[in-house]
Amino acid sequence: MINFTVGPVQSDEKVLEIGSKNVPYFRTPEFSEIMLENERIMKKLTFASENDRVVFITGSGTASMEAAIMNVFTQNDKVLVINGGSFGQRFAEMCEIHDIPYTEIKLQTGKTIDEELLKKYDNQGYTGFLVNIHETSTGVYYNLNIISDFCKRNNIFLVVDAISSFLADSFNMTELGVDVMITGSQKALACPPGISIIILSEKAINRVMNNNVKSMYFDLKLALKNGERGQTPFTPAVGILLQIHERLKQIEKNGGIAVEQKKISKLANDFRNRIKDLPLDICSESLSNAVTPLSTRNCSAYNIFTTLKDEYGIWICPNGGDLKDKVFRVGHIGNLTINDNIKLSDALHDLFKKGILK
Ligand SMILES: *Cc1c(COP(=O)(O)O)cnc(C)c1O
Repeated sequence: MINFTVGPVQSDEKVLEIGSKNVPYFRTPEFSEIMLENERIMKKLTFASENDRVVFITGSGTASMEAAIMNVFTQNDKVLVINGGSFGQRFAEMCEIHDIPYTEIKLQTGKTIDEELLKKYDNQGYTGFLVNIHETSTGVYYNLNIISDFCKRNNIFLVVDAISSFLADSFNMTELGVDVMITGSQKALACPPGISIIILSEKAINRVMNNNVKSMYFDLKLALKNGERGQTPFTPAVGILLQIHERLKQIEKNGGIAVEQKKISKLANDFRNRIKDLPLDICSESLSNAVTPLSTRNCSAYNIFTTLKDEYGIWICPNGGDLKDKVFRVGHIGNLTINDNIKLSDALHDLFKKGILK
């Protein structure tokens, strides 16, 4: 199978090789060193500040989204949530569950935000902002500069879910004034699912330290304390952390974030050019390099997914809910090549010739 989904995605040989081995004991100076290096490279790739900290959570991306909310917000906050799809909706539901006062900015499918829209929320006492910078469910990529300006001028604490955008799109934690950045192992990091990562600014660490979190596993105070010596409070997904280490070191060695991002944007642009003549429409106002969301005109998008899976050995990413028959997504993250793009493009053109894609 060739995997064009948005996670889990294809890993390279070296990462796979680590996955085939026994998991080592981890309360050792050797593992601590690996973890401290993971933290160092994560900070480098996100342009975090010297005193920012990185926490590795064993749990999928949603675990880190929830941990972030529980640790940096309280009932005294007033949070703005961008809700443009199922991941924005998830943030809103988490605020609900944890009694964090919030206002949703609900967007129509495929629509982004602009300065005018945010201006309406100036000087209204908001203290926090939650956004999935790439709303993976619809493929909309919001403009982080606009959000950053809004948060800076209103002195708002900014939490960015960059789970599917990290490594695919440019991101500078310090320049943008991002207080919490979240990502995960199974998107562009191209490792198995199971680890999510939270980067905390000094302001965020302060909030964590002064917050009374009613949870043991998700109290980030413990994670921060243990992290000082490269450890975690509980047994982490040790194997995946070793795979992440391999991947991070590779990215660093190959020239860093710019090179990685260029590789992904090249794959995305190549694919988008190859399918221009097909009856498929890009259905987002603004795109991340990570994903191309496509709507079909006169056929079921879900049927295209099933046919590619069963007859061509290719996974694309189907949509759920209302969009199931209208939209599918093609990911450009993970260990993919231009040759893979050619195979997918050929398969789609074949479906067009057969009258299945119309
Ligand atoms: C993948 C993803 C998540 C995390 O989902 P999990 O299934 O919990 O790993 C969260 N937000 C966005 C924007 C994502 O793309």
